[in-house]
Parts: sequence; C-alpha cells; structure tokens
Amino acid sequence: MATIEVQRQVLPILGSPNQGARFYNPELPASEPFVPGHRTCAGCGPSIQYRMTSKAAGDNTILIGPTGCMYVANSSYLCTPYNVPWAHTQIGSSGSFTSGVAAAYEALIRKGKWKGAFPNVICEAGSISGALYRNHDCLIICYDNEQYANTGIQASSRTPYGGMTTFSPPGPKVPEAKKLFPKDLARMMAAGHPHCYVATSSVGYPIDLMNKVRKGLNHRGAAFLMVYTPCQKGFVYETPRSIDLGRMVVECGLYPIWEWNPEQREFDYSFRPQSMRPVSEYLKLQGRFGHLHAEHIATIQQFANQQWQMMGVALPEALIQAADAKNVANMAAAEEAAVIAETV
Ligand code: SF4
Repeated sequence: MATIEVQRQVLPILGSPNQGARFYNPELPASEPFVPGHRTCAGCGPSIQYRMTSKAAGDNTILIGPTGCMYVANSSYLCTPYNVPWAHTQIGSSGSFTSGVAAAYEALIRKGKWKGAFPNVICEAGSISGALYRNHDCLIICYDNEQYANTGIQASSRTPYGGMTTFSPPGPKVPEAKKLFPKDLARMMAAGHPHCYVATSSVGYPIDLMNKVRKGLNHRGAAFLMVYTPCQKGFVYETPRSIDLGRMVVECGLYPIWEWNPEQREFDYSFRPQSMRPVSEYLKLQGRFGHLHAEHIATIQQFANQQWQMMGVALPEALIQAADAKNVANMAAAEEAAVIAETV
C-alpha cells in the first residue's frame, strides 16, 4: 500500500502592531470552538484561555484534558461548551492519551483511512513529559491557575510565595501562608525537552497568546505552552478584573513572558510589557494576599526583581527601593481582604 504524505495545517500568525493589543483584532477568525454555556465561575481565567486558544487553533482541532475545572465544570451530563471533538481523560493520562491520538491520526492518514488534514491536537497538561520527549505532533498547554481549584483551592507547586489556599492558611507560625516559591515548570520543560517549542503567555495578552498557540501548532513535533489564567474563586478578586490581573502579573515581573527557540536552542526574552509596576499593585487586588506583612511583600519584590534581571531588564530605582521592607506598607490585611471577598 502506498504511503500518503501527511498534510499539516499551517496557521498564519496574527499581525498586530501592538503585542499588547487587547480586545479587537480584525484578523481574528469568526469560528468559536468554545461556545457559551459552560459552567465555570464568572471571570474564570482558564475559560478565557480556552476560548482564545481554540479560536486560534480553529475548527479542525481536537481538545484533550485531564480532570480539572475545565473538564469537570465543562463536561456535565449531556452539556459541553466544546464545539470540536474533545476528550476528558483520567487525571494522570492526558499526555499519553494525546500521544495516542496524534499517532493514530498520522497512521490513519498515511494508510489512506482518514481523508483530510492532520488535526491540531491540543492537550491541557498531565503526564506530559513522555509526549514531549517522544515529540508527538501536538500542543500541550498548562493553564496555570496556581492551585488545585476544582477540588476546593488547595496549594500546588505553582502556588506563589505568600498565596493563601485551604492547604496554606496564614497563622502565627507561618504568617505568610506559603513559604515556597513556585516551581518554574515552563523552564523545566524547555531544559528537559530542548527539541520542543516552549513558551509562556497570559490571558492579559490575547494576541501574544493566540500567536503562541499557532506557533506551537505550526511547530513540527511537540510544543508546550504555559498560560497565566487567574482563578476568581481562589485568588478572590472582583470578577471583571481577570484580564487586568493577566497584564499586571507580567508588568510586575512575576510572570516572565518568553519563548524557547528549539532550532537555535536559546530563550527569547524580547517581550516587554508597556509598563513596570511594584508587586504590591498586583497583590492588593487579591484577597489571597490580604494577610501579607511588609517583609513578605518585599520578599516577593526581590523575587520579581530577579526575574527582570534574568530577562536582561535594567531595574528602575523604584523597584529596587520596593524590595526593602522599610519602604513597603503592610497590606491593610483583614478589612481590605474582606471587602474584596464581599464583592465577589
Ligand atoms: Fe475557573 Fe477557578 Fe472557578 Fe475553577 S474555581 S471554574 S479555575 S474560576
């Protein structure tokens, strides 16, 4: 039997004079693979990410994800917002499931048993290293809501220093709630799988996010994308501020946006937000940080300053000063956090 060449889709990169273009881009496709009617919280960052991601990928796409908010709230009996083929996998097997889907489509096309272009295969995290290592033709996305949300907001290795969760409450012995800084998952993926396209993005930068989805899908082989997706329930913020948080976390240096170039084997740190801010501006919008004292906020600022320096950005004097606890005020703590919580 003759072997048929697999035709892959090549998605055009969205032109935008401004990488921070926010709400409107005339080149956006009209298709909506993620439709209204989902059951996630109002303002849910992962849902916003899903809509952008699936829009960028288009209708010839297969979505795969393990148990989590996006596959529990979104796959109630006889009800789903996915307008393309999708699968909800066991919690630890989405990477291996995705490997099977990508390999199966390739085999079916080569044998003439499936007519049409190779689909965009998108997996949302879980047992992913094997899929990246074997270089299956798929894009793996980690929607990073910095905790375990669908089981009731427990701390994860991505929960930031100082972040309050049900597993990391502040108290007399650990007033900052969480002592450990988050695991640098995306850089781990780049370091361990240097043949893959790896990048970070945020829902605060839709065009950047959608272009990275397309670059990851255009890359021949496996790709990994980690996206900041605020969780309204766990972060405790006013619902309309999801996109604001997605920009501020970058402007504060707490979520560096970068790409790993697998051909040249180097990081690209050229993304720059329009402004740089002290971390306190980001922290004060969220009830999960309402307990922090000045020294904790200064510690987070030191971390952010290290991130800026890692990207080769010269630090303005204001950010150097903000890393000294003497120059920082306590969060107004209980009252302000309670006010924020009351509004959501
Ligand atoms: Fe989204 Fe968080 Fe609500 Fe889950 S708990 S649906 S991640 S906002």
